[in-house]
Amino acid sequence: MSKTESKTAMCPSALEEGSALTLDFSKLRQIGRGEAAVIPAAVQDYDTKEVLIVAYVNEEALAYTLTHGVAAFWSTSRNELWVKGATSGDTLELVEVRVNCEQNSLLYLVRPLGAGACHTKGADGKARTACYYRRIEMVEGPAGGPEEGPIAQRRLEFV
Ligand SMILES: [Zn+2]
Repeated sequence: MSKTESKTAMCPSALEEGSALTLDFSKLRQIGRGEAAVIPAAVQDYDTKEVLIVAYVNEEALAYTLTHGVAAFWSTSRNELWVKGATSGDTLELVEVRVNCEQNSLLYLVRPLGAGACHTKGADGKARTACYYRRIEMVEGPAGGPEEGPIAQRRLEFV
């Protein structure tokens, strides 16, 4: 985690700090090509209900989470256990884990112990509370209504 965190902090990319919408729809297909047997886990602040992050979990990460009481995931890019906050200090203390109806995704309810859950940093230099700090802005068309067309023409606005 530390490599990704420090690299991003020193050199904010257009992907994470820009206003261009460049969604990676191939993400799950990429994961599917690999060996990782994972399911998505949404992570929500138990007290504020804010959605903090969505990541992937395999059996090992879930076992670690339940055993140690902190949110852990499986990094699909590095193919290794990712204990959130192990290097940054932004640990997510586990309150409970819920499972969805079809038992193919998880919900971690947590209490953040550090600055935030996101690896990016805000204007104050601290980790952002959550990953969902931008919304897709509806672009006004010629008629003054929402413009139709490719979603790539939409812009992102910081919230
Ligand atoms: Zn993030």
